[in-house]
Amino acid sequence: MDHFLYRDGQLYAEDVPVAEIAAAVGSPAYIYSTATLLRHFTLFDEALSWGPHLVCYAMKAASNQAILKTLAEAGAGMDVVSGGEYARAKAAGVPGDRIVFSGVGKTREEIRTVLEGGIRQFNIESEPEMRAISEIAASMGVTAPVTIRVNPDVDAKTHAKIATGKSENKFGIPIAKAREVYAEAARLPGLKVVGIDVHIGSQLTELEPFAMAYRKVAELTQELREDGHEITRLDLGGGLGIPYTRSNEAPPLPVEYGAMIERELGHLGCEIEIEPGRLIAGNAGILLSEVIYLKEGEGRNFLILDAAMNDLIRPAMYDAHHDIVPVIEPQAATEQQPYDIVGPVCESGDTFAKGRMMPPLGPGDLVAFRSAGAYGAVMSSEYNSRALVPEVLVHGDQFAVIRRRPSFEEMINRDSLPEWLQAD
Ligand SMILES: *Cc1c(COP(=O)(O)O)cnc(C)c1O
Repeated sequence: MDHFLYRDGQLYAEDVPVAEIAAAVGSPAYIYSTATLLRHFTLFDEALSWGPHLVCYAMKAASNQAILKTLAEAGAGMDVVSGGEYARAKAAGVPGDRIVFSGVGKTREEIRTVLEGGIRQFNIESEPEMRAISEIAASMGVTAPVTIRVNPDVDAKTHAKIATGKSENKFGIPIAKAREVYAEAARLPGLKVVGIDVHIGSQLTELEPFAMAYRKVAELTQELREDGHEITRLDLGGGLGIPYTRSNEAPPLPVEYGAMIERELGHLGCEIEIEPGRLIAGNAGILLSEVIYLKEGEGRNFLILDAAMNDLIRPAMYDAHHDIVPVIEPQAATEQQPYDIVGPVCESGDTFAKGRMMPPLGPGDLVAFRSAGAYGAVMSSEYNSRALVPEVLVHGDQFAVIRRRPSFEEMINRDSLPEWLQAD
């Protein structure tokens, strides 16, 4: 459920007409709903209320300071994957002991910064990384709390670019090797093993792959305890999918996910961490766009929008489907027609949908890409020197720009000319 609904014939974001935001901020623009963000966080928090837990929002999904602060104030921890994300989490007021650090390529500089600023745990992805963290922590005279990310070799049954839990993926260490790597972790200075980490992929629409992975984690927990490790924390990653279309069967709900975790892992007495990103932010955001032209081609009509692949890359990169709805609610009897919906960028890949059935639309009409809150704005670029799309946060009947659109002058001034090209 989200808070982008038609009311009195037009699309609202909570209690604000989307057209009003368009008039104030211009198009295109990302618009987020505070109520939806909080609702999704709370669903996860409640789904794990059977035991000690922390929901660490995977902030790579949408990392605007206002979004982070909204979630942090509700009690969320953060899952970060870079020094930049760590800095953003800290700037939003998240204490170090609620931040977990994931990712396969943590640099020595990032490791040092995070150890200085405080961290709940490193999720270690390889032996060389483990040795680097040990060395740096020991040299600083501190102890780094760590889990090791195991790769359970299960098929997440999702798009190849976002599957991470098969042995051919670059993530984690093979689960069969885990006891050996944990033994080394226990011997190394500067490390304290606190648990196990697993994350098998994104946009999973069934519980079974998770359950298979978590069963393997349960077994490993027993084995590592027999080996003398104190396993008190299980980080189960993110990955629960969201409905991108209204018509499709809905993926499992957080409450069902939480109950499955209790069934598979509840008996171990561990603190549970999860790292949902998409499910918290995905349906909490839309991308607003305006039709520039209706181009009537041979056998097909193109709707050319002012949003493009640089603003929302998911269709080009993951073959992703986004529902696209008109901001003015069509009459029930309106006959739909097929459109190819495209952006202005000079690439054929800049196509959002082909043959999409829509009510008649023309220049000046506003549309909204639904489910664009996760992996939308964060993956945007200024390709074709198109300004980064502004972000807007709605809260009840209020809205605020939380990242403004840069002017062309600002964009140009980010470059600098070397001395030899400067006029005298
Ligand atoms: C991307 C990622 C997540 C979040 O995945 P979602 O599908 O957005 O829930 C969580 N943990 C790790 C380690 C990730 O890489």
